[in-house]
Amino acid sequence: MNDATTASKPKCRHCGKQLEGTRNGAYDPDTNERCRVNFYGGFVCSRHCDFRASLELEQEMPGHTYAQRKLGQLSQEAFDSNWEDES
Ligand SMILES: [Zn+2]
Repeated sequence: MNDATTASKPKCRHCGKQLEGTRNGAYDPDTNERCRVNFYGGFVCSRHCDFRASLELEQEMPGHTYAQRKLGQLSQEAFDSNWEDES
């Protein structure tokens, strides 16, 4: 906790929640939970945000639509392994 001079603290990629830490490792100041890194990069504060961040990005990809409700295979696997230690 010695980077008080850090200009830009990490934020949740999906909801924009302000996180503590650095680009190398972030945690949620409310829960002290380590933040996961989203499949497409950036920290996410929760399982929900991880899912939504990936899904919303994929919905904008060529060949995809906003009707898409499931993650692609690779991002789903990354999501599962991100949260496999959660009950
Ligand atoms: Zn979030």
